Amino acid sequence: MSACPKILSQHFDVPNAHKIEVYCSRGGYTSARKVLTEMGAEQVIEEVKKSNLRGLGGAGFPTGMKWGFIPRQSKKPCYVVINADEGEPGTFKDRYILCLDPHALIEGVIIACFAVKSHKAFIYIRGEYVEPVRIFRGAVEEAYEKGFLGKGIFGTDYSLDLIIHVGAGAYICGEETALLDSLEGKKGFPRLKPPFPAVKGLFNSPTVINNVETLACVPHIINKGAEWFSKLGCEKNGGTRLYSVSGHVKKPGLYELPLGTSLKEIIYEHAGGIRQDLILKAVIPGGISSSILKANEIDIRMDFNSLAAAGTMLGSAGIMVMDETTCMVKALLVATRFFAHESCGQCSPCREGTGWILKIVERIWEGKGRPQDLDNLIDISQNIEGNTICAFGDAAASPVISYIKKFRGEFEHHIKTGSCDLVEAALK
Ligand code: SF4
Repeated sequence: MSACPKILSQHFDVPNAHKIEVYCSRGGYTSARKVLTEMGAEQVIEEVKKSNLRGLGGAGFPTGMKWGFIPRQSKKPCYVVINADEGEPGTFKDRYILCLDPHALIEGVIIACFAVKSHKAFIYIRGEYVEPVRIFRGAVEEAYEKGFLGKGIFGTDYSLDLIIHVGAGAYICGEETALLDSLEGKKGFPRLKPPFPAVKGLFNSPTVINNVETLACVPHIINKGAEWFSKLGCEKNGGTRLYSVSGHVKKPGLYELPLGTSLKEIIYEHAGGIRQDLILKAVIPGGISSSILKANEIDIRMDFNSLAAAGTMLGSAGIMVMDETTCMVKALLVATRFFAHESCGQCSPCREGTGWILKIVERIWEGKGRPQDLDNLIDISQNIEGNTICAFGDAAASPVISYIKKFRGEFEHHIKTGSCDLVEAALK
């Protein structure tokens, strides 16, 4: 079993760690103070580059490189936007940080803003996160009272404002450019890229968008050094990760483990194995948008590169475990309902395709499937993939293709018999 370093979750069990005095008593805000009083912006970016910190919202883009893309000579203000619109099904890590260690995030925001010479940051928090919003708002007020936000931070001439924006419940606003439109008061529609947000982002200004978990890592990188951080993970994947484990395991929950920990180890050693000692059937490794893995494919490292090589993705590290009682038609129905509901409707392949997919999967589930349905589902999905404005199209297509490819026999049996008696038979 991997050693379990407590980096991001080190304060989760500490009473009142969301209060600024508790956070400061444990060394909090010393990294931000060091950055503002002893370091230059370029030095901070170099340190983050060396740490191999990658975007932990799902895309996995190297964070230091992203900060480095911000034009140095822009006449427009630069903004930092924190994506806390945690809507990926199976994912609940950012919620923990917002509630249990909000000052680690605020400290990361201060460092990021200083590095890219921004004086205004916006955090976009998922509308359903009522309690996290309440706690985070309190933490921001404390930081202002202490002089860690606002004018003249730590006695320097650096000033920073952090503005909280609460979303309205649309999944697509977690897509970074839809989030920017929503922040600007428009309907949350993903934008065509390029231009990328680093050049033309919020209010047409250079903008860095980082996820909550990503920024919460930054104070630890400054405090203990890039080399220490990069060695916690594996090649090109620095640090640890908060894995959200749900579904048919004995101990569902949030586990902090190094990037690159084996999926098998997470399920069987940390999450206690399959409930009632039933047989594992399938695993979604990185939120509902990732392609599914069969039970014999879980001996794999949970890092961006290894999962991409296996045809799936680490994404949000939301691991959903399914045992032998799971009907794959029903599982796909749940996923397709979600995607059909959440498509923003801007591009036809996604808008129409997700609706058609749902119709067909519903038909199969109701016992009215037709022999050509599976090929049609694959064909529709392949026509969505790569033909849309944002990655939502690919995300909607990948479950359909992977579920059918890996469990075709079960889908065919469903169409033939109109039932899921394969699952019942397995349990006899
Ligand atoms: S892919 Fe879907 S969600 Fe993304 S812009 Fe097009 S219609 Fe909207």
